[in-house]
Amino acid sequence: MNILLFGPQGSGKGTQAELISKKLNLFHLSTGDALRSEIKNDTDLGRKVKNIINVGSLVSDDIINDIVLSKYNIISSDKTYNGVIFDGYPRSYDQWLFVQKHFKIDAALEIHIEDEESVHRISSRRMCTTCGKNYNLMWLKPAIDGHCDIDNAALITRDDDKPVEIRKRLAIYHSQTAPLKIEYKKVGILHVIDGSKSIEIVNNDVMHVLNSLK
Ligand code: AMP
Repeated sequence: MNILLFGPQGSGKGTQAELISKKLNLFHLSTGDALRSEIKNDTDLGRKVKNIINVGSLVSDDIINDIVLSKYNIISSDKTYNGVIFDGYPRSYDQWLFVQKHFKIDAALEIHIEDEESVHRISSRRMCTTCGKNYNLMWLKPAIDGHCDIDNAALITRDDDKPVEIRKRLAIYHSQTAPLKIEYKKVGILHVIDGSKSIEIVNNDVMHVLNSLK
């Protein structure tokens, strides 16, 4: 089973992707995480995309499609997983064309929240500088203020989570990513989940949809 998971920044799609991937034994393929790992490892690609990400713009379709296809090929060749959950991909029409050409998609799940909620949630988001784990000062606090529960490293606000950048990312989401819903509807794979509820309730709603597809 291959799933597309999308929603505005702060909708909780990363958290839901983790939960779903464990329950259904799917590989969690987050393009944002893959890019942040390139930046952290200071690779050529990481240096190329760092500024683009920090100002809240989208990385080029060619770069993203290459990353996704190469990861997908590795995952599908070792048969460990029952499929892939694409988190934050596709984000543009050209990426969607690429998806259709290369992957069979069973469901596209939108985790829906309003923009004001998104800005509010993102302003409370913190990330570990070492392992990348996400926290939220409203509902997923670290045990020790400002430090990661896993490795005790410092927690920071991502550059692209700052107010100007987050507004820009939301505008891009509405102009390029959300319109893909029309395409998902056309091919009968769109499911909309209310993301304003608790993590547990959202996950129950998501699992209800996914279990009905089995
Ligand atoms: P995320 O963690 O999913 O919010 O992604 C962080 C940033 O990585 C985005 O703001 C983009 O700059 C870049 N990015 C992640 N996924 C994509 C994608 N599918 N297409 C283009 N850029 C992406």
